[in-house]
Amino acid sequence: MKKVVIATNNPGKIKEIKEILKDYEILTLKDMNCEIEVEEDQDTFEGNAMKKAKEIANVLKMPVIADDSGLCIDILKGWPGVHTARFLGENATQEQRNNAILEKMKKEQKRTARVICCMAYYEDGNFILGKGEVEGKIATKKRGKNGFGFDEIFELPNGKTFAELTLDEKNQISHRKLALQDLKENLQKFGK
Ligand code: IMP
Repeated sequence: MKKVVIATNNPGKIKEIKEILKDYEILTLKDMNCEIEVEEDQDTFEGNAMKKAKEIANVLKMPVIADDSGLCIDILKGWPGVHTARFLGENATQEQRNNAILEKMKKEQKRTARVICCMAYYEDGNFILGKGEVEGKIATKKRGKNGFGFDEIFELPNGKTFAELTLDEKNQISHRKLALQDLKENLQKFGK
């Protein structure tokens, strides 16, 4: 089985990736004793995912998959986008970030938003990408206790927030799942 390193130690992501990319032996950064931190300083999700995959692959000399995702609000021209994790600085909490988004959107009628994930595979100088996008809107208040990140404020067309879904329900439809499926198809196309 082909060995591929995934550029994360997040147990949820590792599980999702292993479930979808069953034909590969998936190794984590921990498995590789790798503690590289790559700065996510690009202005697109693709750019960050590609940078991370390439830098880590060049150190490990193995194929690497890296991802980057975030929340994009249409009326705010895609904000916070690639800054989803850090738009209030490095020390802010997720609660503060979600409160800030709700506050910014308080009087806004047009609430449509999307969550985007980009996966980048890098091997021997070549990239293969996968992209996933889920459309929804910013809820008027937090709802739901499951999930993490912006789950409690991102509402799907069925009226539930991501945080009102079980983990399994979310993983069936998530931006990451769609990006992984897209990546899997593209890997097959290129015989990887
Ligand atoms: P990363 O690219 O997975 O590191 O995520 C970037 C930002 O988006 C972080 O603030 C995460 O908390 C947030 N994020 C990523 N995926 C999800 C998700 O599935 N639900 C909620 N927040 C997410």
